[in-house]
Amino acid sequence: MNIVLIGMRGSGKTAVGRILAQKLGRELIEMDELIVQKAGKRIPEIVTKHGWDKFRDLEEEVVVGVTKRDNTVIATGGGVVVSSPNITKLKQNGLLVWLTASVDTLLNRIGDDESRPLLKGKTRREDMEITLAERQPLYQKAADITIDTGGKTPEVVAKTIAAVKICCIIGDPVEHSLSPPIHNAAYKALGLNYAYIALRTSDIEKAIADIRTNGFRGVSVTTPYKVSALKYLDRIDPTARKIGAFNTIVNDNGVLTGYNTDGIGAIKALEEVTDLDGKKIVLVGGGGAALAIAAALKGKNTNLVILNRTGSKAKELATKVGAEDAASLDKISLVAEADILINATTVGMTKTGETIAPREFLHPRLTVFDIVYNPKETRLLQEARESGGNIVYGYKMLLHQATAQFQLFTGHPAPLEVMESTLIKALGGG
Ligand code: NAP
Repeated sequence: MNIVLIGMRGSGKTAVGRILAQKLGRELIEMDELIVQKAGKRIPEIVTKHGWDKFRDLEEEVVVGVTKRDNTVIATGGGVVVSSPNITKLKQNGLLVWLTASVDTLLNRIGDDESRPLLKGKTRREDMEITLAERQPLYQKAADITIDTGGKTPEVVAKTIAAVKICCIIGDPVEHSLSPPIHNAAYKALGLNYAYIALRTSDIEKAIADIRTNGFRGVSVTTPYKVSALKYLDRIDPTARKIGAFNTIVNDNGVLTGYNTDGIGAIKALEEVTDLDGKKIVLVGGGGAALAIAAALKGKNTNLVILNRTGSKAKELATKVGAEDAASLDKISLVAEADILINATTVGMTKTGETIAPREFLHPRLTVFDIVYNPKETRLLQEARESGGNIVYGYKMLLHQATAQFQLFTGHPAPLEVMESTLIKALGGG
């Protein structure tokens, strides 16, 4: 993973980059230098002769080149954020650190350097103010970490960056993962020097090796690696071992331990509204999520029946976790006698309004938990509510598996309210 410094001219990208690269034993790549080499001209010459558009084209070519590199420190040009494809590429294998400073500080640091043509204003100050106002939201959106460099030496800033504890989600795809905003909001709320990024990976063996090399503190693991990556870990927590799948890695000085927080998340979500002791539960599903939930439920004193479209998978799962019974969906009428119904299938995810359990079997004593979280209120949950029962939203499982990960990564209790409101916002509101 590269460390990519972004920010305005004068924010200290090169000075900080030099010290950081030395501290970490990495190569420093200065993007502006590569552009100069590519064009065979200095930047003012490129801009006066061919315009800023030509400069930006060259910059995009350079971005493509540098993102093929690994374990470097990259000092970008101030305008790299203007192109969103640049940011997407840099983020694929990079931690983006935004170095901020006030206009006065930036102008002080640049000093009398008149070599760079003005972009927007008539004076250096006006140019800086207009450009900064335009780019601020772009830097903000791109940044994984923000560091105010005002009044700090490059040495101090580099030290802060080197000390950041990095966590990430790996999988394929990961671009739309909700984990980065949830975890980052929690770090910010507690003032922890942590950052959480999304790294798409097509080579899980290399990704796990990189976790050790880069000293990542914690990793969330998602599809398709929850089972296949187990073999690369040093230790596996008993729950994850029993399930045969994991979603979390904690790195203790190079020793990687795998955990599964999906089941814990589901139990916590349910226990917010109902006691589980002695309850009759119908769990529908035969995939990875159903397995994690079933194993967690059997750690409680519950009476568990597993139903699945493919009945043989339900039976396999029931044998694995020691459930009381298993069958195909022909037995869905069992819901009428149950205390709790859990949907752990994909049914309900689409807007077609499908539901796993016909309304006639829902009743007022029933708690219904649909782990599908998009849409927030599936048809199953809507009908359960209308039938007078308790409902548990799928996002609650996502939330609680993340709070369990947060605690494993940081050792601090998770700030639940912050994480919940961030998740709800990321899902599109109320
Ligand atoms: P999976 O391994 O692919 O399993 C899919 C399950 O859905 C299987 O049981 C499958 O039955 C069933 N299914 C698919 N289409 C069906 C249909 N038309 N009718 C009846 N059953 C059908 O997926 P997974 O990883 O377990 O995830 C399942 C769901 O849980 C997904 O929607 C996922 O987004 C959600 N999830 C939510 C959370 C959370 O935190 N809230 C966490 C993990 C997963 P067969 O075995 O017969 O194919």
